[in-house]
Amino acid sequence: MAVPLRQTLRLGAYLARQRLAGRDKFPLLVELEPLFACNLACAGCGKIQHPAPLLKQRMPVDQAVAAIEECGAPMVSIAGGEPLMHPEIDVLVAELVRRKRFVYLCTNALLMRRKLDRFRPSPYFAWAVHLDGLRERHDVSVCQEGVFDEAVEAVREAQRRGFRVTTNTTFFNTDTPQTVREVLDYLNDELRVDQMMISPAYAYDKAPDQEHFLGVEETRALFSKAFADGGRRRWRLNHSPLFLDFLEGKRDFACTAWGIPSYSLLGWQRPCYLMSDGYAATYAELLATTDWERYGRGRDPRCANCMAHCGYEPSAVLATMGSLRESLRALGGRA
Ligand code: SF4
Ligand code: SF4
Repeated sequence: MAVPLRQTLRLGAYLARQRLAGRDKFPLLVELEPLFACNLACAGCGKIQHPAPLLKQRMPVDQAVAAIEECGAPMVSIAGGEPLMHPEIDVLVAELVRRKRFVYLCTNALLMRRKLDRFRPSPYFAWAVHLDGLRERHDVSVCQEGVFDEAVEAVREAQRRGFRVTTNTTFFNTDTPQTVREVLDYLNDELRVDQMMISPAYAYDKAPDQEHFLGVEETRALFSKAFADGGRRRWRLNHSPLFLDFLEGKRDFACTAWGIPSYSLLGWQRPCYLMSDGYAATYAELLATTDWERYGRGRDPRCANCMAHCGYEPSAVLATMGSLRESLRALGGRA
């Protein structure tokens, strides 16, 4: 199954409520960034480039919870920076879980084993551990040796304690269909994480390494070859089948960046977490003051190579919900 049944049903009910209310734009998931600081310095990261005074700031829990309540999204992905460096990250997660939001806590896992005691397993909570490949590949990606081994130990310890553990893997143009298959086979069959998220790297302008991002045709070629042996039906990928079709080039969609908005220390980022054309104070203001038609591939040259989930997974989810056949395909896990 692409996502847990409880989450699928909750999302379906949420989408039905938006339709009944006549809303054409609404958030499915918020990318919440309560800090930009990190204990790693990956070459592809555009977050740790912020000025030092901003890197020192931490978002108060009340402010983060108020933002999630204002927008009403059923799912929250907490990222950064490294969220485990936030002194009240456990309180923030607990408050969101108490409100029955599905929370993914994204982490590079360096602090995870030390902080596991502060969290409780819940159907509303999952770890999302950053793993860009097998040992050598991942450690090169995060520019530090030993991070892969620590992340694997942290995943195993969290699994022992009954947590739901997912992973998040970004692929670059140094990847091949073989490296994609190797890491997904490992995560699926050996580490046995609950679900895996995958993403083609996007060349956002703050990232210092601009050479290793995938173009649209490279992304399609990479995933269509990696998926050619039917692995995607076996892997527990945390994506809708239509989004995986999109990565393979079998379907195309318009960007719906309003579906996965980003809220950080700077406010609601326009139009998505990959680009910053200013910030809004509330999600309502973001919706009202953004010309959404300006964005997406074919509209804005900065979007030309983007196939990121924040723009296109909501499009795939909405297309799924609008089709009985695709809904049954997603529910049946027929990736
Ligand atoms: S772990 Fe994430 S936030 Fe930290 S430097 Fe790497 S990409 Fe950036
Ligand atoms: S295509 Fe959409 S998600 Fe991608 S960078 Fe442009 S606005 Fe953001």
